This record gives sequence, structure tokens and C-alpha cells, in this order.
Amino acid sequence: MRRKLVAGNWKMHGLKAQLGEVEAIAAEAAANPGVDVALCVPFTLIAPAVAVAGGLPIGAQDLHEADKGAHTGCISGAMLRECGATLTIVGHSERRADQHETSHDAWAKAAAARRHGLQVILCCGETDAERDAGRAERIVQSQIEKSLPEGAHGDWLTLAYEPRWAIGTGKTPTLDEIGSIHAIARAKLRTMVGDAAAGIRILYGGSVTGANAADILAVDNVDGALVGGASLTAEKFVPIIRGAA
Ligand code: PEP
Repeated sequence: MRRKLVAGNWKMHGLKAQLGEVEAIAAEAAANPGVDVALCVPFTLIAPAVAVAGGLPIGAQDLHEADKGAHTGCISGAMLRECGATLTIVGHSERRADQHETSHDAWAKAAAARRHGLQVILCCGETDAERDAGRAERIVQSQIEKSLPEGAHGDWLTLAYEPRWAIGTGKTPTLDEIGSIHAIARAKLRTMVGDAAAGIRILYGGSVTGANAADILAVDNVDGALVGGASLTAEKFVPIIRGAA
């Protein structure tokens, strides 16, 4: 039985002034023990967030694939662990678009995170042009094939299906479309890791709000949500946590 996971992605938002939101979200997570909750915050906020989160898992949004070295401006898995992170996102579509990261990069980063004992949320999802061309399913299958690290297991790896055209736009696929891609993603995992696929959570991400969360989270093979904008305040995030409980 896969527990639902609701993970917030604060992107490049959040100063210490927002730590009260972390505390309020942590309190709500503690009040809903049936659902897993996590927050992925900017690097600079990881240690301060851990200090107020009372055990709520705090994560990063990226890391470098190397363990250390001459990589100016980058962050290693060991550094994330040292400041208290327990998980990280890899392969987010904004990094694919802004930093030209590929599925191979996501694969290497996921493996690095695993080496350092971090939980991994591995993102995949098609662009609107790929969707319009009827290629969404093939793109998601191909991204999973190229980015799933060796030994992928639900104990440490979560997949997130995030159609790029749905991120931050207020648009979402229909529930049938979400169910169909999640089923395809599950089948792809099965061909790659066999029975272990049944234990790997597949989150949906892209314009999840308190208004649509419960419906989306009730779809087969949707094991939680990766939430951007609506995770920035407890007021918006709490209804999503409750929708998963
Ligand atoms: C995201 O950035 O992972 C995301 C899903 O963003 P939003 O919820 O704002 O669409």
C-alpha cells in the first residue's frame, strides 16, 4: 500500500520571514499522520527550515551529480545532508528549460542523491508542443527510461508526472488524462524494475490547488502531489494536505 505524499516546491521563493509558513505547514502535517508531507525549499532556507520544522522532511530542489570538485556555485549531496535535507527534487522541468538539463542529467543527479542517502523526487512530463503532437505518452516513457537510476525502489525514489504546460498556468489535464499517463508510467516502471514498481509512488504536479486536489488524488495510480505555487503558504497548502488525508 503506497502512502500519499504531498510535497511542496518553493522554487526561488522564501526568506527567513517565511519560516512561520514552514511551522504552520509542519503543524498541519503532524495533525495528518496518514499522509506524508515534505517541503523542498531554496538551499539557503534548508537549515533554518529544518530548525523550525519539528521533523517535517525538508528537501532541496536540485544538486550536482558529482560528490565534490571544481563546480562553482553548485551544491553536493553531502552538503545537502549536512544542512539537514532528507530529500531532493531532480529533473524539474524548470531546470530542463532554464539550465538545459537532460534526462541523463536527472539520472546522474538521482544517483548522486541516492549515494548520499537522500530521498529523490524524479520529475518527468511533456511540453505543450509535445502534447499537441500526441507525443505525451512517448515522451514520459522515454524520460523515465533515460532518468530512472539503477536499483530504483519506493523506499527512496518517487516519480512525479508534471506536464510542463500545467505548471504555474492554472491548467490541468483531465482526470482521465492524468490516470492514463500515470498508468503508462507505472507500466514503464514495471518493465524496468519489475515488482518493485508497485512500491514506487507517482505524484501528479501542475496547478494543484485546494479546489482540485481531492479529485486528482483519488485517481488510480496518483500517489500524491508535487505542488508549487499553492505550497508557499499554509493557507493554500493545508487544504491540499487535507485532500490527501
Ligand atoms: C511545480 O513547480 O512542481 C509545480 C507543480 O508548480 P505549480 O503547482 O505552481 O503548477
